[in-house]
Amino acid sequence: MDRQMEFVLRTLEERDIRFVRLWFTDVLGYLKSVAIAPAELEGAFAEGIGFDGSAIEGFSRVSEADTVALPDPSTFQILPWEHKDGRQHSARMFCDIAMPDGTPSWADPRHVLRRQLGKASDLGFSCYVHPEIEFFLLENGPLDGTPPIPADTGGYFDQAVHDSAPHFRRHAIDALEQMGISVEFSHHETAPGQQEIDLRYADALSMADNVMTFRYVVKEVARAEGVRASFMPKPFADHAGSAMHTHMSLFEGENNAFHNPDDPMQLSATGKAFIAGILEHASEISAVTNQWVNSYKRLIHGGEAPTAASWGPSNRSALVRVPMYTPNKASSRRVEIRSPDSACNPYLTFAVLLAAGLRGIEKGYELPPEAEDDVWSLTSAERRAMGYKELPGSLGEALEEMEKSELVAETLGEHVFDFFLRNKRREWAEYRSKVTPFELQSYLGL
Ligand code: GLU
Ligand code: MG
Ligand code: MG
Repeated sequence: MDRQMEFVLRTLEERDIRFVRLWFTDVLGYLKSVAIAPAELEGAFAEGIGFDGSAIEGFSRVSEADTVALPDPSTFQILPWEHKDGRQHSARMFCDIAMPDGTPSWADPRHVLRRQLGKASDLGFSCYVHPEIEFFLLENGPLDGTPPIPADTGGYFDQAVHDSAPHFRRHAIDALEQMGISVEFSHHETAPGQQEIDLRYADALSMADNVMTFRYVVKEVARAEGVRASFMPKPFADHAGSAMHTHMSLFEGENNAFHNPDDPMQLSATGKAFIAGILEHASEISAVTNQWVNSYKRLIHGGEAPTAASWGPSNRSALVRVPMYTPNKASSRRVEIRSPDSACNPYLTFAVLLAAGLRGIEKGYELPPEAEDDVWSLTSAERRAMGYKELPGSLGEALEEMEKSELVAETLGEHVFDFFLRNKRREWAEYRSKVTPFELQSYLGL
């Protein structure tokens, strides 16, 4: 048994932990949990915990239902919630999913990202990520299609004293930091009820775990305060949606491979080729970074969300931005990808973004000229003339692009690629079969 496992077992005993929750994520990005007694953990470290994978979205087919969860001791954290007796009783660990013969499961999103990080490492790179996560705080209401009501009336950067939001953010950040997740910034976002919390950078795998933990913690804290947190990409037609802007950098050893002090933007040729890769493959990866029917309601003109594959140094209408806050700090040279939304699967999203960027580096893609204009104000003809490719306008279009993509098939692996396309085509077909309030309002008088 290794030192981390011993540490976990000792901590469980010292802190008198009663439940160990083993966490993993399904293909669509839902967090799954199985709780075991601490006495079972030694066995779980050795052999894993078996469960019926066929019951999990995207895992095994029924004939190969036996699946094994192997807890990763490096992710051990005590959950910050106190029991009535004032003690903390639960801890969690993320798991890697394996087949009964011990080989990694092809359906495990964590494994998809690990594989992609392995490819980056073969090229000499490690990958760091920091997300800016936007979400809504809503009044507690039924989930039956009733329009939501924002829990506060604040706007961008408001310090709204009478609203629940500032206390909520403080409590959420306390809970996140107790679980080892450092928060860099937090503020009220533009729309009523909308919040943003930005996490301090970490390696891509830890960050994907952190994003899953983040959603869980934020929802729990909201629930305790009598409101609901929602990561739905676009709950309000008249307000901006919720993005998960993803900042990425590649390091070669100690050195930031995106930094070049002699470049006007301090961005290296590697950084430029990475951006070119993201732009080139943006449409193919869109179904992963924006995986729901609703995701495409956010990616429209005007909401500070990208609609075309363009880039700029600090251009907020572009798909990729090169933040210029601290251009001289070598370690912080990074690119910000603005398409992902807060309801993506972070493992798969980081994997496809990294794959697209690395493809740009490997093939030496050339970075097109930067977008100087406000991309939103251009007509589609002007945008085409300037060489910007439109991003898919709907889940249906995004699936058509993904289907043709050798890059996405290779990155997700055949199993996840096929499951994802099948599942999402079903979602798109179901949505297309609905008659919406818009149609009734507009057409019933015909
Ligand atoms: N909420 C905006 C979006 O959906 C982003 C706002 C910002 O730039 O932070 O993309
Ligand atoms: Mg924001
Ligand atoms: Mg941003």
